[in-house]
Amino acid sequence: MNIPFFMHDLGQEELESVAKVFKGPILTTGETVAQLEKELAAYLDCKHVITVNSCTAGLHLSLMGLDIGPGDEVITTPLTFVATLQAICYAGAKPMLVDVDPATGNLDVNQVEKAITKKTKAILPVHLYGHMVDMRALKEIANKHGLRLIEDAAHCLEGIRDGVRPGQISDTACFSFFATKNITCGEGGAIATQDDALAARLRLLRNHGMDKTSADRHREGYRHWDVNMLGWKYNMSNIEAALLLPQIKRIESKLKMRVRLYEEYTKHLAPLKEYVQMPKAEECEVHSHHLFTVWVPRERRDQVIEGLQKRQVSCVVNYRACHLLNWFQKVLGHKRNDFPVAEKIGDQTLSLPFYPTMPIEHVAMVAQRLEEVIQE
Ligand SMILES: *Cc1c(COP(=O)(O)O)cnc(C)c1O
Repeated sequence: MNIPFFMHDLGQEELESVAKVFKGPILTTGETVAQLEKELAAYLDCKHVITVNSCTAGLHLSLMGLDIGPGDEVITTPLTFVATLQAICYAGAKPMLVDVDPATGNLDVNQVEKAITKKTKAILPVHLYGHMVDMRALKEIANKHGLRLIEDAAHCLEGIRDGVRPGQISDTACFSFFATKNITCGEGGAIATQDDALAARLRLLRNHGMDKTSADRHREGYRHWDVNMLGWKYNMSNIEAALLLPQIKRIESKLKMRVRLYEEYTKHLAPLKEYVQMPKAEECEVHSHHLFTVWVPRERRDQVIEGLQKRQVSCVVNYRACHLLNWFQKVLGHKRNDFPVAEKIGDQTLSLPFYPTMPIEHVAMVAQRLEEVIQE
């Protein structure tokens, strides 16, 4: 039997929600977006949420909103999706990589301070797989050196560590609603912030820097608008917001379903622990469990993927170390061995089928097929 990697759970409720938008006059950013932002802000217990059309856009806008650009350095991790580093490059700043913690794969907070130079403007951690980085420790470092903090929380909508959620003590946290994320509208994103002035600036920046929106025109009639800054076309439409709205109330129940699958995997993989390592996941009160990722011996990883795929188990790699990808090697000039821990995990890692509505019996089937592959 074919075991898919991911299946979304959108259905009738989302269809009806979108149908409501069709009945109104505004397909682009309007009341539905405003409602979603309000509900997300309440869920995250954060003052402002500004939706955008991707997490990548959110990261780029955060950097622009904080005036980070050419000549500036931003400290981040090599073990992430390319968007994290590319957003820094869009801003014209330079990603300064720091190696990761061998137990979690997250940015090694203990190595951040020695990477700080006169040009450093911000730290951009990624909560890998949904396991939050120690934000309180990073906040202390940021305060001490006058740096900004931007979170790539694409995996971590639900996370809590030391009483802190993404966006609560940083300048911004960015979320993704891409097709396989914990809630989704196909493509979408959001920025959370506690800073009133920054929130207002981000709202302008996401819409060409225009001081009026289409929804304003609809409400007030046409008035001349002006542009006071270079902005981008990063706004979310009411259609996407409508797809996301009914999912807000399912966030916690879906997390519970993923936790149950995680526990089932843990049980079934225990006999394989000589070959299959699970990243440490106990450092936070709430782990988002966005992916179920295992680390296998690096010299066998690609063979394991092939063997699983031959047995109709879909799997993916999140992620090979970014600095070894062609373009980043070219522009950042890194070589193998520059970040040995990230490279090792990048060579070992493999994500197994994992999504809330995955039939629980599939876990044992995946584990059994994985065992067969290992014993080949
Ligand atoms: C998915 C993802 C992104 C990009 O999200 P988009 O919404 O597709 O732009 C960024 N960072 C990480 C860690 C991701 O997993």
